Amino acid sequence: MLERDRPGDHNVSVRLISILTTCLVLALSAVAGHAQTPATGAERPFSVTHYDVEIEPRLQSQTLTGTATLSLVFTRDLVQTIALDRGRLEIDGVEEDGRPRAFTVDGSRLRIILPRGKPEEKRLLTVRYRGKASSGLLFNTEREQIYTVFSTSQWMIALDDPRARATLRLRVTMPRTWSGAGSGREVSRRDVAGEKVQTEWQLDRPAPTYTFGFAVGAFSEASDQSSRVALRYLGRDFSDAELRRIFTESAQMVSFFEQRSGVPYPGDAYTQALVARTAGQEMAGLSIVSEEYGRAVMADPAAIGLIAHELAHQWWGNMVTCHAWTEFWLNEGFATFMAAAYREHRFGREVYAKEVASMKARYEQVRERGNDRPLVFPAWDFPTADDRTLVYQKGGYVLHELREQVGDTAFWAGIRRYTTDHFGKSVTTADFQMAMEQASGKDLRAFFDRWVYH
Ligand SMILES: [Zn+2]
Repeated sequence: MLERDRPGDHNVSVRLISILTTCLVLALSAVAGHAQTPATGAERPFSVTHYDVEIEPRLQSQTLTGTATLSLVFTRDLVQTIALDRGRLEIDGVEEDGRPRAFTVDGSRLRIILPRGKPEEKRLLTVRYRGKASSGLLFNTEREQIYTVFSTSQWMIALDDPRARATLRLRVTMPRTWSGAGSGREVSRRDVAGEKVQTEWQLDRPAPTYTFGFAVGAFSEASDQSSRVALRYLGRDFSDAELRRIFTESAQMVSFFEQRSGVPYPGDAYTQALVARTAGQEMAGLSIVSEEYGRAVMADPAAIGLIAHELAHQWWGNMVTCHAWTEFWLNEGFATFMAAAYREHRFGREVYAKEVASMKARYEQVRERGNDRPLVFPAWDFPTADDRTLVYQKGGYVLHELREQVGDTAFWAGIRRYTTDHFGKSVTTADFQMAMEQASGKDLRAFFDRWVYH
């Protein structure tokens, strides 16, 4: 049981029902903020193809300074003003090719006034900013850790729309004794003034900006080379052997999800960090879970559901991504179901059946309270705890029901088709339905109408 007040855009207080409710639960209050943002990919007259970000978060003051250089491409005649997400970051200046540009802030948006451009025209904008600890950037002075949670625009200027994909070069300055992980592969670590070090990561494959992130701190590190993917484990006050024990299933999990999805793990490294406080959070190429959860896995080696859930997001969520937050179940219902499927693979049908029964029970409770809703939410403004249960537990349960309806062979063939066809793309439930219908040869309209749309 975890409980936490979270200073978000709406000062939403979020009660975490259980660790197993898992990642992004916290983040959903931030999602509520996104839902109110009117701009969509279709309306936006530009895209951001690459971010080059340099930040220095400071533990004692719980503040950060940063510079983000954005590679923009205009998609239609400009429009003199472009809007970016800034969370609550304070903007010190905006430049284009060394020339200052006028800007305004409007709630969580940063609006920049630019000379008009033509479609296909590329522009480079540099934004200097400052910020404080927030729902998207957590500082823990006691444990000497700084890490991000979902809401990317809380620590860098970005587009939070889940359709917005880009590559990233991220440089983080930290104390020289620290280590960490960031989205992408680590390309350098160099000493800088003040007994500090700057570590650089590059993410070469475009990913949704909400999956950008890092975790840095006074970590010790263990690694496992038993898989094609280099596995790193970070934690503080955990021995090498303990870290390896907690994450001992990781290589097997990678193989399982590769086999089920039909797509290799996207990248050659995956880092898992144990941090002071989190419900669990996936990022591109890394994930964080709590130290408390790590100790729970040491006590019960079967309690690996959250590790599996976060790893599953490297396929479903990070690479096959919900088109809009209203389709969030395609991220979270999938990760919830896939964690159960891994535990079935590892511990047998009985464990899976128990987990499905638990999902169903959680869903039934919501239904009995009269709070059942379609999985594809018509609006996603201020999600309640029950709404979250629907996205995670009802979502996972519906995938189980679908598996029962079409049979194992067709179900997994459909999952592979859906994942391979849409890898690196945005999806809607219609995409998933089509893949399952093609794989099973069945008309699934009645099933989706009953379980997903109504
Ligand atoms: Zn999740």
